[in-house]
Amino acid sequence: MNAPTPHSHLVPEINQRDVPEALLAALKSRFGANCSTALAVREQHGRDESSFVAPPPAAVVFAESTQDVADAVKLASDFSTPVIPFGIGSSLEGHLLAVQGGISIDVSRMNKVLAINAEDLTVTVQPGVTRKQLNEAVKSTGLFFPIDPGADASIGGMSATRASGTNAVRYGTMRENVLALEVVTASGEVIRTGTRAKKSSAGYDLTRLMVGSEGTLGVITEVTVRLYPLPEAISAAICSFPSIEAAVRTTIQVIQLGVPIARVELIDHNTVRMVNAHSKLGLREEPMLLMEFHGSPAGVKEQAETVQEIASEFGGTAFEWATTPEERTRLWTARHNAYFAAIQSRPGCRAISTDTCVPISRLADCLLDSVKEADASGLPYFLVGHVGDGNFHFGYLLDPNDPKEREVAEQLNHQLVARALALEGTCTGEHGVGLHKMEFLVTEAGVGAVDMMRTIKRALDPKNIMNPGKIFAM
Ligand SMILES: Cc1cc2nc3c(=O)[nH]c(=O)nc-3n(C[C@H](O)[C@H](O)[C@H](O)COP(=O)(O)OP(=O)(O)OC[C@H]3O[C@@H](n4cnc5c(N)ncnc54)[C@H](O)[C@@H]3O)c2cc1C
Repeated sequence: MNAPTPHSHLVPEINQRDVPEALLAALKSRFGANCSTALAVREQHGRDESSFVAPPPAAVVFAESTQDVADAVKLASDFSTPVIPFGIGSSLEGHLLAVQGGISIDVSRMNKVLAINAEDLTVTVQPGVTRKQLNEAVKSTGLFFPIDPGADASIGGMSATRASGTNAVRYGTMRENVLALEVVTASGEVIRTGTRAKKSSAGYDLTRLMVGSEGTLGVITEVTVRLYPLPEAISAAICSFPSIEAAVRTTIQVIQLGVPIARVELIDHNTVRMVNAHSKLGLREEPMLLMEFHGSPAGVKEQAETVQEIASEFGGTAFEWATTPEERTRLWTARHNAYFAAIQSRPGCRAISTDTCVPISRLADCLLDSVKEADASGLPYFLVGHVGDGNFHFGYLLDPNDPKEREVAEQLNHQLVARALALEGTCTGEHGVGLHKMEFLVTEAGVGAVDMMRTIKRALDPKNIMNPGKIFAM
């Protein structure tokens, strides 16, 4: 887990509302042992994988059903007390901090796969089901769920952050893959959005309003997502490049030519070194693309040949193939562990992650200048990217006790976001706004658009109890 920074480095403004004793008594009476006020439990629920700290929530309710969630929210609403939904706590931007106090509703025990409709390629799950659990559950049907944020996140949390990951270049993000939801609103009412039909023109698209709402509009208690047939053939390959620029230009051309590549991840030479040390791999310590191709055997071969040709034009070395499922898993596990490998490379450090995403034609402009700035800063960093989507992450590794390093990292993040916005990109491709990107959202969306978001929030949550103080200030 990322190390917390001292209080003096706090980003969030702490403005805690009192949590009345009467509410805690009512929760204890309704939920018994499933409502905890133990400090360790509260602290575990009062932070995420960001390094920001705030006092923990006053209580944690472990919900086991939609009715539990509805009852907890109704009680909190009666006392105008904030409610923070909790999945597995892997978010990166301060989403879970109880900056206005309140209670946490942990839905991780709502972890049943409710209905697998293999013939329709859909599955309906409770929000605490994790992506790996979901894939285990559908494995025997020959289908899979492709969205894979590095952490084994909950489907509810992934819906709430509009998550994506390495497969998004081919299969889209949670935005494209959530079909329907059940939601407990801020007043404790249970509503449904969407259906299992592939498309619909029925009224406002409340599903997409909830997806990415970061717990600020309601608690998601059921999710229906799309599944995909497991590809007939899968091949993974790595290719090293003489420079980051060469790897990026290869990616741009692959995407612009419309090669239906399933995954194309950039890992810079720093990160390859860290991953080698952490996962005991012997990868060449040069910038590298880690790729995967899905399709029929002939289709995969054709895609791979096209990409190899493009890579060689930019000085890429011959592909090294991971042919067996075990080898592929080893490579992708190493990729998914890059964040932890990086944190371990500087003992006691903490990471500040960036998350910009730009149109593919602007990727080189955005990334290369940012690499120059990061190199010039002297801060150790790692760089990984879902570059096929124009999305990449720097992780600045800083000494939590050195305010100067913190300042440098924040400055680098500011410059990077400003560059991405100037190139018509976004301040967050997949992690969400939380606390850390609030000011950037105003720059990106504009005052009028953020005002419209406020109007929606006021209408749906008039007491401002759902994860207040996140995404934008009220
Ligand atoms: C090593 C690492 C790698 C990562 N890589 C990626 C990546 O590649 N792509 C990516 O998109 N993200 C990535 N993330 C970020 C993180 O995994 C995602 O944001 C994930 O979607 C969070 O899910 P969670 O279950 O942990 O949610 P939490 O962290 O528990 O919650 C996240 C937010 O969602 C809200 N929430 C949670 N559950 C519900 C619910 N049932 N109803 C309503 N609101 C809810 C919370 O209130 C909070 O605001 C990474 C994180 C780590 C630590």
